[in-house]
Amino acid sequence: MLLRDYAEITGEDVIDQLRQLAEPLRGMKVVHVNSTRLGGGVAEILTKLVPLMRELEIDTHWEVITGESAFYDCTKAFHNALQGNRIAVREDLLRTYERTTAENAERLRPLLEEADYVFIHDPQPAPLLGYCPHRKGKWIWRCHIDISHPYRPIWRYLRKYIEPYESSVFSLSAFAQALPHTEYIIPPSIDPLSEKNIDLEPSEVAAVRQRFGLDPSRPLLVQISRFDRFKDPLGVIRAYQLARKFLPQLQLVLAGGGASDDPEGRIVLEEVQLAAAEDPDIHILLLPPDSHRIINALQRAADIVLQKSLREGFGLTVTEALWKAKPVIGGDTGGIRLQVTNHHTGFLVSTPEGAALRIRYLLHQPRKMAEMAVKSREFVRDNFLITRQLREYLTLMVALLH
Ligand code: UDP
Repeated sequence: MLLRDYAEITGEDVIDQLRQLAEPLRGMKVVHVNSTRLGGGVAEILTKLVPLMRELEIDTHWEVITGESAFYDCTKAFHNALQGNRIAVREDLLRTYERTTAENAERLRPLLEEADYVFIHDPQPAPLLGYCPHRKGKWIWRCHIDISHPYRPIWRYLRKYIEPYESSVFSLSAFAQALPHTEYIIPPSIDPLSEKNIDLEPSEVAAVRQRFGLDPSRPLLVQISRFDRFKDPLGVIRAYQLARKFLPQLQLVLAGGGASDDPEGRIVLEEVQLAAAEDPDIHILLLPPDSHRIINALQRAADIVLQKSLREGFGLTVTEALWKAKPVIGGDTGGIRLQVTNHHTGFLVSTPEGAALRIRYLLHQPRKMAEMAVKSREFVRDNFLITRQLREYLTLMVALLH
């Protein structure tokens, strides 16, 4: 994708501004480092951002640190502990972590030391800075997870690697930890030109409806989520059942990834299947991980998108739905609060009863729905597209220039 492809969506001004912001950075060397090239939100965003930064004539590199399986066991444990699980990490795993990052530093040191900016994504590569004594550039620790309530011993261990950075970036202020350098907030974004979000022909949406047995003449509620208790799929079924007493035509889709090796995912899926057993109008869809166009079509087929999470990080599914001009009924938590404004882009709810009430309200107010549709799309255009995220990275780099 080229920058000019985005102009059609964002307007030329936004693209011109990116070019202007990038001017003082032209020719500079930037290195992003994370721990995977495929899978997960970080890799996905880098896949899009790196070529756009290169197009702005910033000499941008993307390096991935690698290790044996014990290294990933350790960093997975960090991930869980930083998000609040009280789990100790075995000493031998910590030694593996230290050894692996040191080995990766050997390989990457020449590039890292000469870079003008280094973005280190998440805790996995955090110690690299300590192995680059002759670094010339600014180092930024880009944290993509919520570390506001970490398991303290692990945070104490990791923060010593992070403190010497020039700055940190968090997705939401609520996710941050106090650190002895400047902290920036840069929320996530979606790519409007990706398979997940690109405009689809109505025929493609109709084909997906047909494939899953959805009746186009009846109202449809959709929630796209992993089968996870925090996403409250049982609460969604309850809300649907309550609303259906007044709207007997209602249909519900709960779509998520297939039964993975996550044992809890399987249990939650079974609970959901049990709760839906008697109702042919509840469609539980298990989708393979690359079902981006299908998810896109389901979001477009919906009249209302639900994201009734009990706890949520940012909630990209909300952004995706708002971009498709759908009102969202979302749980009053985490990043959903940044996106859903009552009566404007949707409704925040705390209970199935609240969700049912809002479903009934919206389906009886087609004009209100149409108004919200326009606001929702504009809200995402202004706040949550990849061009905004790129602008904020550039602004951060310019701010650190001196
Ligand atoms: N998603 C997907 N397949 C699924 C379920 C979700 O591709 O079966 C996508 C969804 O469209 C969104 C992301 O995974 O882009 C989920 O991000 P979100 O922030 O909503 O929740 P998380 O899963 O990170 O808690």
